[in-house]
Amino acid sequence: MAKEILVSYGVDVDAVAGWLGSYGGEDSPCDISRGVFAGRVGSMRLLRMFEKWGIRTTWFMPGHSIETFREQMKAVADAGHEVGMHGYSHENPIAMTPVQEEAIFDKCVDLIAELSGKPPRGYVAPWWEFGSKTNELLLKKGIKYDHSLMHNDHHPYYVTVGDQWTKIDYSQHPSAWMKPYVSGEETDLIEIPASWYLDDLPPMMFIKASPNSHGFVNPHDIEQMWRDQFDWVYENYDYAVFPLTIHPDVSGKPHVLQMHQRLFDYLKGHDGVRFVTMEEIAGDFARRFPKSGSARPQS
Ligand SMILES: [Zn+2]
Repeated sequence: MAKEILVSYGVDVDAVAGWLGSYGGEDSPCDISRGVFAGRVGSMRLLRMFEKWGIRTTWFMPGHSIETFREQMKAVADAGHEVGMHGYSHENPIAMTPVQEEAIFDKCVDLIAELSGKPPRGYVAPWWEFGSKTNELLLKKGIKYDHSLMHNDHHPYYVTVGDQWTKIDYSQHPSAWMKPYVSGEETDLIEIPASWYLDDLPPMMFIKASPNSHGFVNPHDIEQMWRDQFDWVYENYDYAVFPLTIHPDVSGKPHVLQMHQRLFDYLKGHDGVRFVTMEEIAGDFARRFPKSGSARPQS
Protein backbone atom coordinates (compact mmCIF):
# COMPACT_ATOMS: atom_id res chain seq x y z
CA MET A 1 0.00 0.00 0.00
CA ALA A 2 1.35 3.40 -0.95
CA LYS A 3 2.20 5.71 1.91
CA GLU A 4 -0.06 8.68 2.54
CA ILE A 5 1.35 10.90 5.26
CA LEU A 6 -0.41 14.25 5.48
CA VAL A 7 1.79 16.96 6.96
CA SER A 8 0.21 20.22 8.07
CA TYR A 9 1.72 23.43 9.35
CA GLY A 10 -0.65 25.03 11.84
CA VAL A 11 0.41 28.58 12.63
CA ASP A 12 -0.98 29.83 15.93
CA VAL A 13 -0.72 33.60 15.73
CA ASP A 14 -0.54 34.31 19.44
CA ALA A 15 1.18 37.71 19.10
CA VAL A 16 -0.10 40.33 21.57
CA ALA A 17 -3.16 38.20 22.36
CA GLY A 18 -0.92 35.43 23.72
CA TRP A 19 0.51 37.83 26.30
CA LEU A 20 -2.94 39.19 27.18
CA GLY A 21 -4.55 35.83 27.72
CA SER A 22 -2.00 33.19 28.54
CA TYR A 23 1.64 34.08 29.09
CA GLY A 24 1.29 36.47 32.02
CA GLY A 25 2.86 39.51 30.37
CA GLU A 26 -0.25 41.67 30.02
CA ASP A 27 1.19 44.45 32.21
CA SER A 28 4.66 44.43 30.63
CA PRO A 29 5.36 46.78 27.72
CA CYS A 30 8.38 44.63 26.85
CA ASP A 31 6.38 41.41 26.70
CA ILE A 32 3.66 43.13 24.67
CA SER A 33 6.45 44.35 22.38
CA ARG A 34 7.40 40.73 21.68
CA GLY A 35 3.81 40.15 20.62
CA VAL A 36 4.03 43.05 18.18
CA PHE A 37 7.14 41.43 16.67
CA ALA A 38 5.16 38.24 16.09
CA GLY A 39 2.30 40.04 14.38
CA ARG A 40 4.33 42.38 12.23
CA VAL A 41 7.63 40.61 11.57
CA GLY A 42 7.52 36.92 12.47
CA SER A 43 4.27 36.27 10.63
CA MET A 44 5.60 37.81 7.41
CA ARG A 45 8.80 35.75 7.57
CA LEU A 46 6.70 32.59 7.82
CA LEU A 47 4.46 33.72 4.99
CA ARG A 48 7.48 34.23 2.73
CA MET A 49 8.89 30.84 3.74
CA PHE A 50 5.66 29.06 2.79
CA GLU A 51 5.55 30.99 -0.46
CA LYS A 52 9.05 29.81 -1.29
CA TRP A 53 8.06 26.22 -0.52
CA GLY A 54 4.83 26.51 -2.50
CA ILE A 55 2.58 25.03 0.19
CA ARG A 56 -0.71 26.07 1.76
CA THR A 57 -0.97 26.09 5.53
CA THR A 58 -3.53 26.82 8.23
CA TRP A 59 -3.31 29.94 10.38
CA PHE A 60 -5.25 30.07 13.63
CA MET A 61 -5.72 33.78 14.26
CA PRO A 62 -7.01 35.33 17.47
CA GLY A 63 -9.63 37.98 16.72
CA HIS A 64 -7.30 40.42 18.43
CA SER A 65 -4.57 39.68 15.87
CA ILE A 66 -6.96 40.12 12.93
CA GLU A 67 -8.00 43.55 14.21
CA THR A 68 -4.50 44.62 15.31
CA PHE A 69 -2.32 43.28 12.48
CA ARG A 70 -4.84 43.77 9.74
CA GLU A 71 -2.34 44.24 6.91
CA GLN A 72 -0.32 41.15 7.79
CA MET A 73 -3.28 38.84 8.44
CA LYS A 74 -4.92 40.00 5.22
CA ALA A 75 -1.74 39.14 3.33
CA VAL A 76 -1.89 35.63 4.79
CA ALA A 77 -5.52 35.14 3.79
CA ASP A 78 -4.94 36.64 0.34
CA ALA A 79 -2.06 34.19 -0.25
CA GLY A 80 -4.58 31.34 -0.03
CA HIS A 81 -3.80 30.00 3.42
CA GLU A 82 -6.67 28.65 5.49
CA VAL A 83 -7.78 30.81 8.44
CA GLY A 84 -9.10 29.17 11.61
CA MET A 85 -10.28 30.39 15.03
CA HIS A 86 -8.04 30.83 18.05
CA GLY A 87 -10.01 32.89 20.58
CA TYR A 88 -10.05 36.69 20.71
CA SER A 89 -7.44 37.63 23.33
CA HIS A 90 -6.11 34.07 23.71
CA GLU A 91 -8.34 33.87 26.79
CA ASN A 92 -8.55 30.70 28.87
CA PRO A 93 -11.64 28.65 27.90
CA ILE A 94 -11.73 26.96 31.32
CA ALA A 95 -12.01 30.32 33.06
CA MET A 96 -15.08 31.37 31.08
CA THR A 97 -18.76 30.60 31.13
CA PRO A 98 -20.28 29.03 28.00
CA VAL A 99 -22.05 32.35 27.39
CA GLN A 100 -18.72 34.19 27.34
CA GLU A 101 -17.16 31.52 25.13
CA GLU A 102 -20.04 31.69 22.66
CA ALA A 103 -19.83 35.50 22.44
CA ILE A 104 -16.14 35.17 21.50
CA PHE A 105 -16.91 32.52 18.87
CA ASP A 106 -19.58 34.75 17.30
CA LYS A 107 -17.21 37.73 17.09
CA CYS A 108 -14.33 35.66 15.71
CA VAL A 109 -16.42 33.79 13.12
CA ASP A 110 -17.49 37.18 11.75
CA LEU A 111 -13.94 38.57 11.74
CA ILE A 112 -12.58 35.53 9.90
CA ALA A 113 -15.42 35.47 7.37
CA GLU A 114 -14.78 39.13 6.64
CA LEU A 115 -11.01 38.64 6.38
CA SER A 116 -10.88 35.50 4.30
CA GLY A 117 -14.22 35.45 2.53
CA LYS A 118 -15.48 32.34 4.30
CA PRO A 119 -16.26 31.34 7.87
CA PRO A 120 -13.69 29.26 9.74
CA ARG A 121 -13.80 25.47 9.50
CA GLY A 122 -11.29 24.78 12.27
CA TYR A 123 -10.45 25.77 15.81
CA VAL A 124 -7.47 25.67 18.14
CA ALA A 125 -8.28 26.33 21.79
CA PRO A 126 -6.03 29.00 23.32
CA TRP A 127 -3.29 27.38 25.40
CA TRP A 128 -4.88 24.05 24.42
CA GLU A 129 -7.55 24.26 27.11
CA PHE A 130 -11.12 23.12 26.52
CA GLY A 131 -14.14 24.34 28.49
CA SER A 132 -16.82 21.84 29.44
CA LYS A 133 -19.07 23.03 26.62
CA THR A 134 -16.44 23.97 24.02
CA ASN A 135 -17.03 21.01 21.71
CA GLU A 136 -20.80 21.47 21.70
CA LEU A 137 -20.40 25.19 21.00
CA LEU A 138 -18.03 24.48 18.11
CA LEU A 139 -20.57 22.19 16.47
CA LYS A 140 -23.27 24.80 16.97
CA LYS A 141 -21.08 27.37 15.16
CA GLY A 142 -20.51 25.09 12.17
CA ILE A 143 -16.90 24.23 12.97
CA LYS A 144 -15.84 20.99 11.24
CA TYR A 145 -12.64 20.16 13.08
CA ASP A 146 -10.70 20.94 16.21
CA HIS A 147 -6.96 20.82 16.83
CA SER A 148 -6.58 20.93 20.61
CA LEU A 149 -7.25 17.47 22.05
CA MET A 150 -4.86 14.57 22.42
CA HIS A 151 -6.72 11.24 22.62
CA ASN A 152 -4.50 10.18 19.69
CA ASP A 153 -1.50 11.74 18.02
CA HIS A 154 -1.13 10.73 14.37
CA HIS A 155 -4.66 9.64 13.46
CA PRO A 156 -7.70 11.93 13.51
CA TYR A 157 -10.82 10.83 15.35
CA TYR A 158 -14.36 12.01 16.11
CA VAL A 159 -14.60 14.17 19.23
CA THR A 160 -16.88 12.80 21.93
CA VAL A 161 -19.17 14.89 24.12
CA GLY A 162 -20.11 14.02 27.67
CA ASP A 163 -16.79 12.43 28.69
CA GLN A 164 -16.78 11.99 32.46
CA TRP A 165 -14.11 11.47 35.06
CA THR A 166 -14.03 11.68 38.83
CA LYS A 167 -11.50 13.77 40.72
CA ILE A 168 -9.99 12.48 43.95
CA ASP A 169 -11.48 13.92 47.12
CA TYR A 170 -9.26 12.87 50.04
CA SER A 171 -11.86 14.01 52.55
CA GLN A 172 -14.14 11.20 51.31
CA HIS A 173 -14.01 7.40 51.51
CA PRO A 174 -12.25 6.13 48.33
CA SER A 175 -15.47 4.50 47.16
CA ALA A 176 -16.66 8.04 46.42
CA TRP A 177 -14.01 8.56 43.75
CA MET A 178 -12.82 5.14 42.59
CA LYS A 179 -14.60 5.44 39.26
CA PRO A 180 -13.26 4.97 35.72
CA TYR A 181 -13.11 7.50 32.96
CA VAL A 182 -16.23 7.22 30.82
CA SER A 183 -16.13 8.16 27.16
CA GLY A 184 -19.04 10.15 25.75
CA GLU A 185 -20.76 9.86 22.39
CA GLU A 186 -18.98 10.52 19.12
CA THR A 187 -19.98 13.73 17.36
CA ASP A 188 -19.39 15.02 13.84
CA LEU A 189 -16.52 17.21 15.09
CA ILE A 190 -13.25 15.81 13.75
CA GLU A 191 -10.17 16.01 15.92
CA ILE A 192 -6.81 16.55 14.24
CA PRO A 193 -4.74 15.73 17.29
CA ALA A 194 -2.55 18.31 18.97
CA SER A 195 0.81 17.40 20.48
CA TRP A 196 2.99 19.40 22.84
CA TYR A 197 5.93 17.46 21.35
CA LEU A 198 5.31 18.87 17.87
CA ASP A 199 4.95 22.45 19.10
CA ASP A 200 7.75 24.99 18.82
CA LEU A 201 6.66 27.10 21.78
CA PRO A 202 7.22 25.13 25.00
CA PRO A 203 10.90 24.41 24.29
CA MET A 204 11.87 27.55 22.42
CA MET A 205 10.02 30.51 23.92
CA PHE A 206 11.26 32.22 27.07
CA ILE A 207 8.33 33.42 29.20
CA LYS A 208 9.23 35.40 32.33
CA ALA A 209 6.05 34.58 34.23
CA SER A 210 6.14 30.84 33.52
CA PRO A 211 7.89 28.77 36.21
CA ASN A 212 8.88 26.03 33.74
CA SER A 213 9.77 28.29 30.84
CA HIS A 214 12.45 27.17 28.41
CA GLY A 215 13.40 29.20 25.39
CA PHE A 216 17.04 28.32 24.99
CA VAL A 217 16.78 24.80 23.58
CA ASN A 218 18.94 24.26 20.51
CA PRO A 219 16.67 24.00 17.43
CA HIS A 220 18.87 21.16 16.17
CA ASP A 221 17.67 19.13 19.17
CA ILE A 222 14.03 19.98 18.47
CA GLU A 223 14.57 19.10 14.81
CA GLN A 224 15.92 15.71 15.85
CA MET A 225 12.92 15.09 18.15
CA TRP A 226 10.49 15.95 15.35
CA ARG A 227 12.39 13.84 12.82
CA ASP A 228 12.40 10.86 15.21
CA GLN A 229 8.62 11.13 15.57
CA PHE A 230 8.19 11.37 11.82
CA ASP A 231 10.48 8.38 11.20
CA TRP A 232 8.44 6.18 13.52
CA VAL A 233 5.16 7.29 11.96
CA TYR A 234 6.50 6.76 8.44
CA GLU A 235 7.79 3.31 9.26
CA ASN A 236 4.68 2.10 11.08
CA TYR A 237 1.72 3.66 9.27
CA ASP A 238 0.57 3.75 5.65
CA TYR A 239 -1.93 6.50 6.49
CA ALA A 240 -1.20 9.08 9.15
CA VAL A 241 -1.18 12.79 9.85
CA PHE A 242 1.78 14.82 11.04
CA PRO A 243 0.38 18.12 12.36
CA LEU A 244 3.01 20.68 13.32
CA THR A 245 2.14 23.62 15.54
CA ILE A 246 4.27 26.71 15.19
CA HIS A 247 4.09 30.35 16.27
CA PRO A 248 5.42 33.51 14.56
CA ASP A 249 6.58 34.47 18.06
CA VAL A 250 9.02 31.53 17.98
CA SER A 251 9.39 30.23 14.44
CA GLY A 252 9.74 33.76 13.08
CA LYS A 253 13.24 33.93 14.62
CA PRO A 254 16.24 33.22 12.35
CA HIS A 255 17.57 30.15 14.16
CA VAL A 256 14.15 28.47 14.05
CA LEU A 257 13.47 29.45 10.42
CA GLN A 258 16.67 27.60 9.53
CA MET A 259 15.39 24.54 11.39
CA HIS A 260 12.16 24.62 9.40
CA GLN A 261 14.06 24.72 6.13
CA ARG A 262 16.08 21.62 7.08
CA LEU A 263 12.96 19.81 8.31
CA PHE A 264 10.92 20.65 5.22
CA ASP A 265 13.68 19.31 2.96
CA TYR A 266 13.80 16.11 5.01
CA LEU A 267 10.05 15.51 5.03
CA LYS A 268 9.51 16.19 1.35
CA GLY A 269 12.20 13.69 0.49
CA HIS A 270 9.84 10.86 1.51
CA ASP A 271 7.47 9.26 -1.00
CA GLY A 272 3.82 9.73 -0.09
CA VAL A 273 4.29 12.85 2.02
CA ARG A 274 1.87 15.64 1.14
CA PHE A 275 1.74 19.13 2.65
CA VAL A 276 -1.90 20.08 3.18
CA THR A 277 -4.16 22.37 5.17
CA MET A 278 -6.00 21.05 8.17
CA GLU A 279 -9.30 21.52 6.40
CA GLU A 280 -7.98 19.11 3.75
CA ILE A 281 -6.98 16.62 6.47
CA ALA A 282 -10.47 16.80 7.99
CA GLY A 283 -12.19 16.33 4.62
CA ASP A 284 -9.90 13.43 3.73
CA PHE A 285 -10.55 11.75 7.09
CA ALA A 286 -14.33 12.08 6.76
CA ARG A 287 -14.11 10.36 3.35
CA ARG A 288 -11.84 7.55 4.56
CA PHE A 289 -13.64 6.92 7.82
CA PRO A 290 -17.24 8.21 7.64
CA LYS A 291 -18.75 8.72 11.06
CA SER A 292 -21.72 6.58 10.01
CA GLY A 293 -19.42 3.63 9.35
CA SER A 294 -17.58 1.50 11.89
CA ALA A 295 -14.09 1.70 10.35
CA ARG A 296 -11.54 3.73 12.30
CA PRO A 297 -7.75 4.04 11.87
CA GLN A 298 -5.65 1.40 13.60
CA SER A 299 -3.17 3.27 15.74
ZN1 LIG B 1 -2.06 30.09 20.86
